[in-house]
Amino acid sequence: MKEQCQRLLLDWYDKNARELPWRGIHDPYRTWVSETMLQQTRVETVRGYYDRFLKRFPTVQALAEAPQDDVLKLWEGLGYYSRARNLHKGAQQVVEQYAGVIPSDPAELRRISGIGPYTAGAIASIAYDRPIPAVDGNVIRVVSRLRGIRENVGVPSVRRLLEAEAASLVPSNRPGDFNQALMDLGSGVCVPGTPSCERCPLKGCCAAFADGDADELPVLPRKNPPRQLRYDVCLILSGGRILMRQRTEAMLSGLWVYPMLEGQNTVSRLPAAVRKAWKLTVSSVRAEGEARHVFTHQVWNMRLYVMEAEEQAHAPAGMRFVSPEEMEALAIPTAMRAARALAVKLLRGC
Ligand code: SF4
Repeated sequence: MKEQCQRLLLDWYDKNARELPWRGIHDPYRTWVSETMLQQTRVETVRGYYDRFLKRFPTVQALAEAPQDDVLKLWEGLGYYSRARNLHKGAQQVVEQYAGVIPSDPAELRRISGIGPYTAGAIASIAYDRPIPAVDGNVIRVVSRLRGIRENVGVPSVRRLLEAEAASLVPSNRPGDFNQALMDLGSGVCVPGTPSCERCPLKGCCAAFADGDADELPVLPRKNPPRQLRYDVCLILSGGRILMRQRTEAMLSGLWVYPMLEGQNTVSRLPAAVRKAWKLTVSSVRAEGEARHVFTHQVWNMRLYVMEAEEQAHAPAGMRFVSPEEMEALAIPTAMRAARALAVKLLRGC
């Protein structure tokens, strides 16, 4: 039965595989980059980023040697920036500790920054033909349905069971194709909610299809609602430049934002709040609308304020007054989209 399912899935893959720029090559670096970009991100979004990234950093050595700011700039808009920072750090580790050769052993791969069990499995199977599973959310869904696992997949013992089931499915012949076939099946056929079982090559070996409860699986852990945060985003102008701050917090670390104050100030209170936070004297404060950005675990509810600092103002530590051209070269997160558009407009008008 297992061999029959493997064959059915590989036959389906041969006819239905998506044409993707990172497919059909045995290059661990490309697999690593693509799988990192694909985490939490749609294939169509990744395509353009992948091409630009590989053009700028064609080898693991080129990536290792690049400044982090350049790596973040190429990642701008893709989100989950810790992926970029870890990939960069991992490339440096590969160069320093593995003479520039990405290892094929999954345990060794997992020692590298940014490579977890899923990416290790993807690299080992796709680039090196090792019969190792690559278990992501798609594969969890497909396997829990195939095997009829009706327990909460957030429970560690259930997760281990799923991983063991996934491992037992991977054939020694074409393991990389098999893993990619499972990914494709999970994203196009065995989708969340109601799957398209009538189009599925595996319906003959699927427990959930036989029992008619595929749309209830997998049983997922309950999620906490994201935390609502309020920020006043301060667009502080000085002699045709604008103040920006490079974040040092774990979230969006290394990216550039307009200075932010927590809470909700008013136009009249902002000069005092800005002086207290950054020792800057500002005037002509005005409100310029609101913006909102939803992250996985938090929501930023932002009010945008424009204000003027004196022409020769000194930037506080960790911040810089930048010209429009300099701003263009910085990696700015999507959360700042509205603030950035306003900043561009303001600087043009200076
Ligand atoms: Fe998923 Fe349906 Fe295929 Fe089972 S038969 S693997 S539930 S699409």
